Amino acid sequence: MPEFAIVDRPVLFPAACEACGGVTGRMLDTGAERPGFGGPGAGVHVYICLSCLRKGAVLAGYVKGERADELDAAADRLGDAEKERDEANDAATKLANELTKKQQELIVANAELERLRELEHQRMFRLEQLGGLVNEIVVGGNGS
Ligand SMILES: [Zn+2]
Repeated sequence: MPEFAIVDRPVLFPAACEACGGVTGRMLDTGAERPGFGGPGAGVHVYICLSCLRKGAVLAGYVKGERADELDAAADRLGDAEKERDEANDAATKLANELTKKQQELIVANAELERLRELEHQRMFRLEQLGGLVNEIVVGGNGS
């Protein structure tokens, strides 16, 4: 028994609904293949689009037409909500990455600031030493 799955779009040859030939939208992937015309290995993958699946389900009495419409609308809303969620997740990931980058830039800038402060501190110390030397020379010169 093949495994059924709902796929976002058909990808295996002929990538179309077995019943109506539609090629777009979500489909039931029956997991089954029927023989094609190319001999062995030229199988035709069997998909059923959700529209045909819905018609079949209504005909089989599994679901009333009105209820099927509600389910279709609910599935559409769910799809939209999932898309919005994915977009929001992508945006959040992007923002988190930007934040990480800014934090790294801040760390680098802080390190540079610390380096410049240390340099300034060393220069002030040298200036004080030079000032002391100048005083010794001037005072020493006047004193002799
Ligand atoms: Zn179809």
